[in-house]
Amino acid sequence: MSSEPLARLVEHMPDGILYVPLPTPFPVGPVNCYVLLDAPVTVIDPGMIWADSTAQFEAALATAGRSVADVDQVLVTHGHPDHFGAAGWLADEADATVLCGRAEEPKLTGQMDRARMGGIVGRLGIPDDMQSTFRSFYEGVRELTHPVSAPRLTLLDDGDTLRAGGRDWQVHVTPGHSVGHASLYDPETRVLLSGDHLLACITPNPVLEPDPDSPDGRRRSLVEYLASLDRFIRLDPLLVLPGHGPRFCDVPSLTTSMRHHHDARADEILGIVERLGDATPYELSGELFPNIADFAVMLGVSEVVGHLDLLEDDGRLVRGTQHPQRYAAR
Ligand SMILES: [Zn+2]
Repeated sequence: MSSEPLARLVEHMPDGILYVPLPTPFPVGPVNCYVLLDAPVTVIDPGMIWADSTAQFEAALATAGRSVADVDQVLVTHGHPDHFGAAGWLADEADATVLCGRAEEPKLTGQMDRARMGGIVGRLGIPDDMQSTFRSFYEGVRELTHPVSAPRLTLLDDGDTLRAGGRDWQVHVTPGHSVGHASLYDPETRVLLSGDHLLACITPNPVLEPDPDSPDGRRRSLVEYLASLDRFIRLDPLLVLPGHGPRFCDVPSLTTSMRHHHDARADEILGIVERLGDATPYELSGELFPNIADFAVMLGVSEVVGHLDLLEDDGRLVRGTQHPQRYAAR
């Protein structure tokens, strides 16, 4: 995680797109909502049911001569609460369709199987009392979301085309930050709506996610994330409208900076493993981020696990067979 811009920032907004920053209670700050104003009127990431967020959203729509009733569809880039929290509310108010990447469905409908996550975090060495802290965090956040009813949902796959705001957008579903994360790209104007997959000032957290088909029971989020970057370099967008922070251009230099960041972070984690002899992902997270607490611990462990996967792939670390898992240098 870094706060330095890793990309060239851009001031202007394209015609026909309204930018609406909306508040969240999270350290990341506001979430960027966008409204594609031409038919079908499409809202990207309508924020949360928190503070006066929905009132701010309605006031912003009014400045563009639109109201909630004009909204035809809501696109959720990924099922994290700061992005989808108000989607169910907005869809019900506007009688609109909600679109998201296929694998995000259980997050939007409130059907996530948290028990599966319990098994994963146990293997990573996270103590039981920490796990109950995570549970209370999830319960608190659920209050700030309005689940989407399944009949309203249309699920998107990589390679689909979506008509929105008078244009045909390519749908790019790329796992990494969230398994079914969807970005939209308009090849004509070369605008990319990147959600949290590409951000100007933050390397997206490779959030831990269950995968019943893998031996570890989890996705290899950072490995999958890095594998997705080449396609965004090839798209070569002129303007990226991200889910948080400033808009930007020059994806090639952004991805180069991100790869350097991840290489340096992997080296740093390897150094800690060498110093300790062997360690669980939770212990490594405590060494790397000594001052974090509560739910931030989960994000710290995600960050560590992502880099442990890279180091294991490079043959620089080995993972023991004990429970919880311990890693040692080769
Ligand atoms: Zn976000």
